Amino acid sequence: MQYFEVVLENGHIGAGNSYEAKRYFKGSDMLSVISKIRGLPRIKKRHTIEAVKEIRPITKEEYVKGMAEALKNPHLFRVWSGYRCPICGKCFNDILSFVRHVEKYDAAFVFTN
Ligand SMILES: [Zn+2]
Repeated sequence: MQYFEVVLENGHIGAGNSYEAKRYFKGSDMLSVISKIRGLPRIKKRHTIEAVKEIRPITKEEYVKGMAEALKNPHLFRVWSGYRCPICGKCFNDILSFVRHVEKYDAAFVFTN
């Protein structure tokens, strides 16, 4: 298993403003991770593009740390209908239920195994 840090760039076409988001993935190789990113559900917004700006291999420790940090940013797990738990895949309609749900996890433990 390999671990990757992916920098995603979200930009509004023509508007000139964009922001970057770091996401963490694991997979058998870089190609499988890239195809996973392509399959990610995302908010459908007109005139908005999301592109992979950078992808780099990281250690398992960096991955665990990155995922634990990411859990504190619910917007990273935003899907069309609400928020999706990156650990069990359960969906929540509102952010509060999502936050309460992921709080139960010990991130360092969950992502190490
Ligand atoms: Zn869950």
